[in-house]
Amino acid sequence: MSPLASDKPRCHCAVFGVFGTPAAAQMTYFGLLALQHRGQEASGIVTSDYDAALGRQRFHIHKDFGLVNDVYKEGDVLTDVLRGSIAIGHNRYSTSGASENRHNIQPFMVHYRDGNIAIAHNGNLTNFREIRSTLEREGTIFQTTSDTEIILHLIARSKEPNQIDQIRDALRQVRGAFSLVIMTDSQLIAARDNSGFRPLSIGRKGEAVIVASETVGFDIIDAEYVRDVQPGELVIIDSEGAKSGQLTSLRISDEPPRPHFCIFEYIYFSRPDSQIFGHSVDKVRRKLGKNLAHSSPVLPKDPGEKVVVINVPDSSNTATMGYVQQMNKDGHSAKLEIGLIRSHYVGRTFIQPNQDVRQNKVKTKFNTVKGVLKDRVVVIVDDSIVRGTTSKQLVQLVKLAGPKEVHFRVSSPPITHPCQYGMDFPTPKELVANQCGGDVEAIRRYLGVDSLGYLSEEAMLASAPHENGEGYCTACFSGRYPVPIEETRGKDENEA
Ligand code: SF4
Repeated sequence: MSPLASDKPRCHCAVFGVFGTPAAAQMTYFGLLALQHRGQEASGIVTSDYDAALGRQRFHIHKDFGLVNDVYKEGDVLTDVLRGSIAIGHNRYSTSGASENRHNIQPFMVHYRDGNIAIAHNGNLTNFREIRSTLEREGTIFQTTSDTEIILHLIARSKEPNQIDQIRDALRQVRGAFSLVIMTDSQLIAARDNSGFRPLSIGRKGEAVIVASETVGFDIIDAEYVRDVQPGELVIIDSEGAKSGQLTSLRISDEPPRPHFCIFEYIYFSRPDSQIFGHSVDKVRRKLGKNLAHSSPVLPKDPGEKVVVINVPDSSNTATMGYVQQMNKDGHSAKLEIGLIRSHYVGRTFIQPNQDVRQNKVKTKFNTVKGVLKDRVVVIVDDSIVRGTTSKQLVQLVKLAGPKEVHFRVSSPPITHPCQYGMDFPTPKELVANQCGGDVEAIRRYLGVDSLGYLSEEAMLASAPHENGEGYCTACFSGRYPVPIEETRGKDENEA
């Protein structure tokens, strides 16, 4: 996503793993391509392959900065370099500073006394600094600024007799959010923290087993979604006798799972064609839009007038459809229009914008269809407002098309707190809800719209499934962090 055109929070990472096919690297490549929205700064794949000359397994790695298509563009990387029947991959987004450090590109791999091990991580560890300081005092040398690296050190230092117990031992010591794929010489391992903040699913294609951050990673390779890795679960995928793709499930610890699924995955981060936490993102996102229409309809002054509802492509498409559907169901005449057109060809730009462009940066990415907005009562539906700068510029852009009124509706509550579990948010003082002291009327004035409506926290939670005892994290809206956080966490340590 271009930094010029969006101030949305960014997802830090996607993970993907394949066990049991010589096409493991190619499948991982396609999976990472489908998960590109979860990280666009760098990508990496590690494979495990039997080296007959050495008489043992050997890991092969390829990683670089850039989009998936660019990182693996050399013709022979996926077939000749990344050989082997097990693979793990990672797409990364990170904050500035850390993003320049090549060592921070995952997966990380090491060779230690019990063999090779590689790891890819989505989430943030909340006791990272504490563990890192202890390890450094005891002489551990770190190669990265990433919290993920401490897991490798904890595994290597564990006194447990085998790799699986070493991994469990390490994961019992870390807190916070982790959805992990780990590769040993002969196994693929998937693990999820006890709250299950980030999604992680298991799929199958023939005898091959696949692990992915979102199920869109299965669709692209025609794999079938089997189930989620449960909160607090460690799944070992290996071969037993002639049977490939054997699944063994273990608990990471005796602690009972306490689900706190990230509600923002449903609101914005995940793709609408994915199933996460066992449910369709499209369905939940549509419900968020419906509940928003129910609680915050836009009623034109002229009761006979049909309001024009527009989405902010692509992230609010589904919620906008739900909004229009519910408006009409509730007897308020509304029409969905494609009033904002997004250019898909604006990539990262390093050209300093001139004064005109700085004043309305969204113009580089969006334009309006003036005919559908002119002289109409227009409702812009967006999934969230973070700093508010992009929303304000979008409003200005829409106003240039000459609408009668402009209203703004948001399918989530005001964002007031940063995420500590794997998403990159601005600092609290940069959030428009805080700058306006939590006053929605002040935010309305800042945006320059006729009315502004947010979804309440209750309505947001009511839009998400609860039938299997799901619990959700809402910390960025409520400040209630379900897992304690370190006070002095630095931004450049938010890596995974
Ligand atoms: S703080 Fe917000 S973005 Fe972070 S895990 Fe909780 S709900 Fe998700």
